[in-house]
Amino acid sequence: MKKPFITKEQAEEIIAKYPTPFHIYDEKGIRENARNLNKAFSWNKGYKEYFAVKATPNPYILKILQEEGCGVDCSSLTELMMSECCGFKGSDIMFSSNVTPKADFLKARELGAYINLDDFTHIEYLDELCGIPETICCRYNPGGHFSIENQIMDNPGEAKYGFTHDQIIEGFKILKEKGAKHFGIHAFLASNTVSNAYYPKLARILFELAVELKEKTGADIKFINLSGGVGIAYEPDKPQNDIFEIGEGVHKAFDEILVPAGLGDVAIFTELGRYMLAPYGHLITTCTHHKHTYKEYVGVDACACNLMRPAMYGAYHHITVLGKENAPCDHKYDVTGGLCENNDKFAVDRMLPEIDTGDILCIHDTGAHGFSMGYNYNGKLRSAEILLKEDGTTQLIRRAETPADYFATFDFSHILDKYSKDNND
Ligand SMILES: *Cc1c(COP(=O)(O)O)cnc(C)c1O
Repeated sequence: MKKPFITKEQAEEIIAKYPTPFHIYDEKGIRENARNLNKAFSWNKGYKEYFAVKATPNPYILKILQEEGCGVDCSSLTELMMSECCGFKGSDIMFSSNVTPKADFLKARELGAYINLDDFTHIEYLDELCGIPETICCRYNPGGHFSIENQIMDNPGEAKYGFTHDQIIEGFKILKEKGAKHFGIHAFLASNTVSNAYYPKLARILFELAVELKEKTGADIKFINLSGGVGIAYEPDKPQNDIFEIGEGVHKAFDEILVPAGLGDVAIFTELGRYMLAPYGHLITTCTHHKHTYKEYVGVDACACNLMRPAMYGAYHHITVLGKENAPCDHKYDVTGGLCENNDKFAVDRMLPEIDTGDILCIHDTGAHGFSMGYNYNGKLRSAEILLKEDGTTQLIRRAETPADYFATFDFSHILDKYSKDNND
């Protein structure tokens, strides 16, 4: 069962001020989840979660996670800038990017972030640009398939990320020659895993690599970053990950591999995005249209621009019709947005209660990779983001875009002056 964290009455109250569509986040859920994660890894002295900013790039969300002891994982200049403004600095920031522009590396270096190199050639690139920092991390890609109990979870051999095995050994040697004193290792081998075995299996691969790197290069390994990839079950009837079992699985691998190798002081880092936020966000949208043709369509005021995952990946997102939580799901609908794109459907052949125009729909699990993947196709405007605070009040944490925002990048021309910000404010 998936239960919305707001009621119909709460939604109506918010909508009176901020019309749909909007994303809403549950502060209480975010904090509890972050605390459990920290508890699950508390056996490791240096443990730190670096929230993957790209999942939910909103400073108010970053501040909440900061208060729970998290750092940030940035992948671009603007994510670094947002993190800087939120007061993250130095070892609070992991910079994991690829095909990295110079300006991004320079900003990461300026902030003293841990830099995670995606590629062998980045050693030279970074060195020439701003020198190699004392602590440096490299991203590993073992190639081939990544499987758990003979089940293929993902295909690292086809992934663009990371150093090969031989490159990372050679890379550590070169980095040492160039003055690096402390090292990190990072890998992201499978996305949205719903399996308590993913992190422990990944940890074993990285821990064994750490032992080998120590032996072959003499590198001082300071941290191992398990990155993201711990997922959530989007379907209502599937079991969720158990973060305590995951933490214990990593602990066991740590005790079996790192401790005997004299690496018991290594810090474990994570860079979770989806796991930290996805369940604690809803996309709230209103039914505006009905259409009866070869199928039954429910048209809503949100579209794939607000949540791309169903259109892009065919991803399932559970839908609750607020106020009809207990009504029988005896109607089959396609729930669609208004883009001129037939894949703009939040649900296909979904059994739902009978939906009336004006009904408020709650699309679940949109807290990560939801708003952030949004776009402006068809001239659609980005929605507001709202925070449901622990005391039950709400706060606007990003206003909705206006047409003036959409036209703002034409500010060098006079063609759209009529709709410019200055004329609207
Ligand atoms: C996207 C990403 C993450 C977060 O992934 P989730 O699946 O949201 O946990 C972490 N690290 C890196 C480098 C990423 O690209």
